Amino acid sequence: MAIQTINPFNNQVIKSYEEMTPDAVEIAISIADETFQYWRKTTFTERANLLHKVANLMRKQKDILAKLITLEMGKLLAQSYGEIDLSADIIDYYAENAETFLEDQRLEPEFGEAYIKSTPIGVLLGVEPWNFPFYQVARFAAPNIMAGNVVVVKHASNVPQCALAIHRLFEEAGAPNGVYTNLFLSGSRIDEVVADVRIKGVSLTGSEAAGASIAAAAGKALKKSVLELGGSDAFIVLADADIDQSVDWAVIGRMNNTGQCCVAAKRIIVVEEVADEFLAKFKAKMSGLKVGGPMDSDTQLGPLSSEGAVINLIEQVQRSVSAGAKVLLGGKLIDRQGAFIEATILGDIKPGMAAYHEELFGPVAAFYRVKDEQAAIDLANDSLFGLGGSIFTSDIEKGKRLAEQIDTGMVFINHPTWTQADLPFGGTKGSGYGRELSSLGIQEFVNKKLIRVS
Ligand code: NAP
Repeated sequence: MAIQTINPFNNQVIKSYEEMTPDAVEIAISIADETFQYWRKTTFTERANLLHKVANLMRKQKDILAKLITLEMGKLLAQSYGEIDLSADIIDYYAENAETFLEDQRLEPEFGEAYIKSTPIGVLLGVEPWNFPFYQVARFAAPNIMAGNVVVVKHASNVPQCALAIHRLFEEAGAPNGVYTNLFLSGSRIDEVVADVRIKGVSLTGSEAAGASIAAAAGKALKKSVLELGGSDAFIVLADADIDQSVDWAVIGRMNNTGQCCVAAKRIIVVEEVADEFLAKFKAKMSGLKVGGPMDSDTQLGPLSSEGAVINLIEQVQRSVSAGAKVLLGGKLIDRQGAFIEATILGDIKPGMAAYHEELFGPVAAFYRVKDEQAAIDLANDSLFGLGGSIFTSDIEKGKRLAEQIDTGMVFINHPTWTQADLPFGGTKGSGYGRELSSLGIQEFVNKKLIRVS
C-alpha cells in the first residue's frame, strides 16, 4: 500500500510519500538506541516537562491537526477536535502520574530487604492504525516515553500527514532526536524492524492478521508484544432498560467515527419483550442521520476511511444477505462520490454468516433479538473477539453480575464501551493481549527488576 493522503470524501490523492530506505531505517534505529542511553537516565520531571509541552502544542494546533485527521481518514470534524483533546489529556495524564505508577514496590520477604524497581528496556516499536491517528499514538508513546523508553512509530499508510505532525510536535517541544521517531514503512517491512536486536518490544493496534504476523515476528526474536486488535462488542438491552436512552447510546456507540471503532457497538442484542420498541426507535434514528462532507458541522454520517474500506464492508453485507440475513435498514452504497455507505441494520443473523462472525468496521449494526438475559450473555460470548461490551438495565447490581459473565477485557453498564486516560483498555481472545492506558498501560514495557539485600 502506497504511503498517501487520499481524501475519502472525494477520492482525491492529496500527497504521496516515499518509503524510507533500509539505510534510513538503520540510521533512525541507531539514533533512537543512542538516545535511549541518555533518556533512561533523565528524571521523571524532565520527561514530564517534555510531554506537557507536547500536549500544550497539540492543543494550540488543534484546528490544524483536527482538519488533518478529517482530510486523511474522513472523521467528522467535531469528533476530530475531540480526538485531539483526548490525546493531549492522555499525554498530560502520564506526565503527571508516571512517577507514582512506577515507584519502587517494597516486598516483605521472610528475611532481609527486597523491592521491585521498574526500569526502562529500550527502543520500542509502535505499529498504529488510521482510525484514531492521534489517540492511538498518544496512548502508546506517552506512557513509554515517561517510563524512560524511546519509541519508533510505523503509522498506517493512509495517514502520513498525521504521522509527520506527531513527529513534529515532539521536535517543536524540544525532544532529543530519537525520543520519538516516525518511520515511513509499509506493513510488509515491519518484520525486519521487529527482528532488529535494538528493538526491545512491539505494540500493535490493528487487525488480527497484522497482530498474528507481528506476534510471530516478536516471538521469533524473543521479545514482548502488546496487541490491541479488532472487536465485535455486544450492546445488550434488558427489559428493564430505559429504552429511549439505550437507543440514543446505541446510535452513538455504533456510529461514532462512522462505525470504525474497535469498541463500537457492533452487535445490538435486545431481549424479546422490548425488541420491537427498541428496533423501531433505533431504525428511526439511524435513518435520520444527515449524510454529507466530514468538514461540515451538520453532517452526521460521513465517508469511511477509504474506497477499499467501503467495498470490503458492502461485500460483508452482501455475503450475509446471500446467506439469509435481512436488511432492516440501508444496505447499499450511497450514490455520490467518496467512500459512503448507508447507515445499515441487519437482522435474522445466524451462525455461519459473515455478520455473525466478522468485525463490521463501519456503520452496519447487527441486530439480534433473544429470549432472555442468559441468551443475551451466551450470544455475546459466542464470538472470537473479546474486546468490550455493554449492558443496559435499571438494575445496576444485576448489570454487574452479568458483566462478570462476559468474556471481554471491558464491560460498561448503561454506556457503550468508551475510553479515557485513567481507564485500562484492551481485550482478550482474538482481540489481543496486554493493556493500554491507566496505571496498567505503563507497566507493559518495563523491567520489573528485583533488588534483594540479604
Ligand atoms: P491493519 O490493516 O492491521 O493496520 C494497522 C497497522 O498495521 C497499520 O500501520 C498497517 O500498516 C500495519 N500492518 C498491516 N499489516 C501488517 C503486517 N502484516 N505486519 C505488520 N504491520 C502491518 O488495521 P486497520 O484496518 O488499519 O485498522 C482497523 C483494525 O484495527 C480493526 O480491526 C480495529 O478493530 C482494530 N483496532 C483495534 C483497537 C484496539 O485498541 N483494540 C483500536 C483501534 C483499531 P499499513 O497501513 O501500511 O498497511
